[in-house]
Amino acid sequence: MSLRHREPAPAEMTATTIPARQGTYALLLTVERRRRITIGRLGALAAAAGCYVYIGSAFGPGGLRARLRHHLGVAQRLHWHIDYLRRIATPFEIWYREDHHGSEHVWAQTCASLAGASLPLPHFGASDCTCAAHLFHFSTPPSLTDFAARLPPAAAAHRKIHWVTAPAAALPALLRDQHS
Ligand SMILES: [Zn+2]
Repeated sequence: MSLRHREPAPAEMTATTIPARQGTYALLLTVERRRRITIGRLGALAAAAGCYVYIGSAFGPGGLRARLRHHLGVAQRLHWHIDYLRRIATPFEIWYREDHHGSEHVWAQTCASLAGASLPLPHFGASDCTCAAHLFHFSTPPSLTDFAARLPPAAAAHRKIHWVTAPAAALPALLRDQHS
């Protein structure tokens, strides 16, 4: 899969650090070649090569920064469904927005509506909600511009979605704790 560099559109903002505040995020990952893995009790996933978009929200201590730090590492204890996929998938981009009410379900439904989206495993990341899943597969990465344009008006603070792309080696700088 070609991970072409995509310039952010004017509605998007690049981030220099990820805040330790509550918010909603999309984690974009790539799988190089087809692999079959087991996602805990959810069952088997025949993970096709391509791009995966995982939607989540962070309301625990450390907020977005702590959660994304978790996703960028490889978990020793597998807790979330995404921890299993993370073992074979490499993060390459993050979209996030600070919010206090959690837009993850709206984001998941919006992501499902993007051209080329498919549902690799029903209920992935959506054990506690009515979404079909919080994980979507694309043969080529979707654009934040398209995604933001499709968010419903109620979620229209989408102009504050931040866009982060970097090689994995550069991502830790974004997650550094800062005294400010
Ligand atoms: Zn949901």
